[in-house]
Amino acid sequence: MSSRAGIVVTGTEVLTGRVSDRNGPWLAEQLRILGVDIAQIVVVGDRPTDLAQALRFLADTGVDLILTSGGLGPTADDLTAEVVGWVQGRPSELVPALEQQIADIVTKLSAGRGWRVDPEATAAATRKQALVPVGANVLPPVGTAPGLVVPVADGRSGPPVVVLPGPPRELQGMWPAAIADPLVLDALAGREELRQQTIRLWGTPESELAATLRDNDAKLAGLEITTCLRGGELEIVTRYGPDAQSAYDDFAAVIQHAYPETLFSLDGSTIDDQVADSLRAGRLSIATAESCTAGLLAARLTERAGSSAYVLGGLVVYANRAKEELVGVPAELIARVGAVSAEVAEAMANGARTRLGADVGVGITGIAGPGGGTAEKPVGLVHLCVMSDTRTVARKIQVPGSRADVRARAVLIAMHMLRELLAD
Ligand code: ATP
Ligand code: MG
Repeated sequence: MSSRAGIVVTGTEVLTGRVSDRNGPWLAEQLRILGVDIAQIVVVGDRPTDLAQALRFLADTGVDLILTSGGLGPTADDLTAEVVGWVQGRPSELVPALEQQIADIVTKLSAGRGWRVDPEATAAATRKQALVPVGANVLPPVGTAPGLVVPVADGRSGPPVVVLPGPPRELQGMWPAAIADPLVLDALAGREELRQQTIRLWGTPESELAATLRDNDAKLAGLEITTCLRGGELEIVTRYGPDAQSAYDDFAAVIQHAYPETLFSLDGSTIDDQVADSLRAGRLSIATAESCTAGLLAARLTERAGSSAYVLGGLVVYANRAKEELVGVPAELIARVGAVSAEVAEAMANGARTRLGADVGVGITGIAGPGGGTAEKPVGLVHLCVMSDTRTVARKIQVPGSRADVRARAVLIAMHMLRELLAD
């Protein structure tokens, strides 16, 4: 059995959706890397009774460790340390050395930022953050707030609680100290390694995969398989203990055999990794001409550091005149077949290549909507073309959904077309 942990994400701003939770997923992934299974992630507002209930609820599920994020600051709604102490049966007391340490950090921060601070308010805030449940371990502050590891009171049973700050940068900075803490190590001792592998398919419906999984049910013992459709790609994530490695290898072979056309990643690599790797390996440069996606593909290609090694540039050619002047699409062609056409997508790909002197060119032209569609060329129609000096891959797609959906899908399809173009 692997160890299990529960996470309580606190903050009314997270509960109400004003801030989307980055700590729960980040902690879950870090714990997974350590081989710790996640039982639940609970989100609560800044209310002490809700937090206390969430902590008791998770403890009752039998987890080995609980982690909290948020509510460690100096303001009145920052209550986590106190509530955790209370639930664990450990009242808080002032730790003078910690108070001094926080005061020094605050003085330095305020001086650095040129703030004028009210000494009395600062002293009260510092004092609040230096209140530590008796018997808890302190994790050194990354911002101003220290983290805590709070064991349950002597004579009671229950998991220790790791209390981490809310700002993601601070929480992540404190993580190495948290997992090196003796109480945490003790709680997670005896855990079994948990492996995880990701397979990605492009163009296989989830229902078809479900049928394959059902047909092979007997072979899947010891594998925890989750499938998820993400932006049109089908992702299969499998978790298993070391003794199920051969079961996993058999499962991967089944998928390879069943979906030779749509399987594009067996090693967890993303389409972005593959396109970048192919361009690098082939020492190829790329240039784009985008109409309905207006630079989204260029942005995606340049998301990773070092992309200047292969991305030359991108042209946003939204109006017909821009298509004519910037990438050299003949005005006569647009007049004859329309701006949203296979011919214009090809002329744009070719224009991007020649104007920027790139090895690979991409052209995307379509009707993102919600207006502008006709019976012949409805909203969601997109023509794409990718070309090198020896090959051309062209596609016409009809994407359902909103303007954002059409644009996002067109970019993803362009990425897959690039993979196809660059495959040897
Ligand atoms: P502070 O000293 O900044 O008050 P804190 O530990 O008390 O730190 P919170 O008050 O809960 O943390 O959150 C401070 C800010 O950090 C939030 O306003 C939010 O911007 C960010 N934050 C908190 N929790 C999360 C989360 N789960 N995901 C993303 N951002 C978060
Ligand atoms: Mg706060």
